[in-house]
Amino acid sequence: MDKVLFLDLDDTLFQSLAKCPSGAALSETAYLADGRAHSFMTGKQRILWRWFDEHTRVIPVTARSGDAFRRVKLPFRDWVVLDFGGVLLAPGGKPDEAWLERGRALATGYQAVLQELLETATAFAQTHSLAVRMRIGEDYGVPFYWMAKHRENEAESLDRLQQEFVAPWLERRKGAFYLHRNGNNLAVLPSSLGKEHAVRHLIERLRLGHDELLTVGMGDSLSDAAFMAECDYAMTPCGSQLFELGLAPLAALG
Ligand SMILES: [Mg+2]
Repeated sequence: MDKVLFLDLDDTLFQSLAKCPSGAALSETAYLADGRAHSFMTGKQRILWRWFDEHTRVIPVTARSGDAFRRVKLPFRDWVVLDFGGVLLAPGGKPDEAWLERGRALATGYQAVLQELLETATAFAQTHSLAVRMRIGEDYGVPFYWMAKHRENEAESLDRLQQEFVAPWLERRKGAFYLHRNGNNLAVLPSSLGKEHAVRHLIERLRLGHDELLTVGMGDSLSDAAFMAECDYAMTPCGSQLFELGLAPLAALG
């Protein structure tokens, strides 16, 4: 039976230095555009990776763009899901043209709204002197989502942007867009975009020619829950956002 692991990357398999346990032996795993090491694996994460890599097909399912994904130094060999499901790379690294075309067609329906969000959110941040930076997440020529991050240690600025501007903005466009927030990542995505759409598509595709397929989904964020639910089993690191909101309250019941 073919075994497939759909694996979120950031904060699931590796993380930034600030999120690593102090004193742990770390190995550099992903880099910034300027070449500096930015994300690291602990010893346990390295062993977990080797375990997965030796025994299953590993398909990364990430919000990273193609550029940011290429800065992850792990030997992925299978399909890859990028940009919250907006882009699929076939084994070998070429984008799946049919999936990209689907994304391009969907983007014509929402790109003007994303641009309006960028402009009005930028104006709000300037008016209130918020220490945030924001942009449209675009890849392979397709705009996929709006995202914002706070500058160094200014989490309050991002919280304020979310609560006072993004939440009411979303309320006015109920159902058409949704929010992703985990730590220093704030994103607004069109409802047609989501890791689960790409994972569902890949499972159907991989199932062709196989009697059975065993699928496992692993991720750390609330926005990973929907793609994990497409799989036979769901895994999350203890202490992750998903764990804290899902299993931890149940574990506390004893
Ligand atoms: Mg993650």
